[in-house]
Amino acid sequence: MPGFKSIIDQKQPVLLLKTLFIKGSLPHALLFTGIDGVQKLSTAIALAMLCNCEKINSSQTIPFGLGKTGAKEVRLDIDSCGTCRSCRKIQSDNHPDIIQIKPSGNLIKIDQIRSLCNSLTLKPYEADTRVIIISNAQTMNPEASNALLKILEEPPDKTLLILIALQALDLLTTIISRCQQIRFNPIQASSIAKHLIQEKKMTQDKAGLYAALSGGSFSRALKINEKWLRQRDWILTAPGLNRSNRQALPSVLKCLAFAEKLTKSKALVPLSLEILQTWLRDLIIFPYIPDKINNIDLIDQIDQISRNTERATLLSKLDAVLEAAKNLQANTNLKLTLEIMALKLGGFSGTGIQEMEIN
Ligand SMILES: [Zn+2]
Repeated sequence: MPGFKSIIDQKQPVLLLKTLFIKGSLPHALLFTGIDGVQKLSTAIALAMLCNCEKINSSQTIPFGLGKTGAKEVRLDIDSCGTCRSCRKIQSDNHPDIIQIKPSGNLIKIDQIRSLCNSLTLKPYEADTRVIIISNAQTMNPEASNALLKILEEPPDKTLLILIALQALDLLTTIISRCQQIRFNPIQASSIAKHLIQEKKMTQDKAGLYAALSGGSFSRALKINEKWLRQRDWILTAPGLNRSNRQALPSVLKCLAFAEKLTKSKALVPLSLEILQTWLRDLIIFPYIPDKINNIDLIDQIDQISRNTERATLLSKLDAVLEAAKNLQANTNLKLTLEIMALKLGGFSGTGIQEMEIN
């Protein structure tokens, strides 16, 4: 199912984009923000298809507010056909004027933006609207950001730039100010569960659990399986993580051993940090909004730990995980970063260092 029809639960962004399109007032640059897995890229591609679909003609765009019926409402059903030459090329990522830029390694580098600048000096090959989609725009290094800024300052004709990022704050303010920001919310658990039941033939219980664990991220929901659950259960054995602050500190050696084991499964580190964040978030919010936790299958454990642990302790542990994730993005030493995180999760902080017991 191509186009906007495939977008689940993003009514507001979709309505806004369709409105801008129908009114002929799409800006030169859009910035899509929201957590991973909320269909920002799929929406960008749906918009590229709509802008270039051969079956959409001007009669569908001009009559906004002036149509035969005089109705001022936006035609919500407008969408690309999904079958014309242009739609098919975009769907298969073979359209010469729909350019996707992704990080090469951890970063979007200056060379990638320079080569984009060069191609933008030419006219589009065949598209009505050339669309440039920059995924993970927050990974642009300063040189790449500045080169992109030049494009945004003098946008080429018939070209729409779509930047995709987790949050606007991660980008230069000069870039943000030249884009219209469109926020994508986490997808509702019920919508994800419905999709898993219909498309993946899951039982209602399993779909409900996986949807809750996904935290509103569609792509995360699709990655959850028995192996994922086993990895979560192992991660949650991290020293200090299930401990309330009324219990004794775990030993330093235990924390370091945990970090070492995690270092060895390098490919699982990003997922592991995500699981830790979600777990600590659950513990923090449980007393206030218990129905919003993700790990719904571990509710009794969450209740008990949350009841017996200070909020400040949980927040500082969450900080430790967020800091580790940030440092790893910046390519710092994996082992050292995970050791520091494990020690902080274990309850050893800068001020509490004298409490360390080496055994
Ligand atoms: Zn089409």
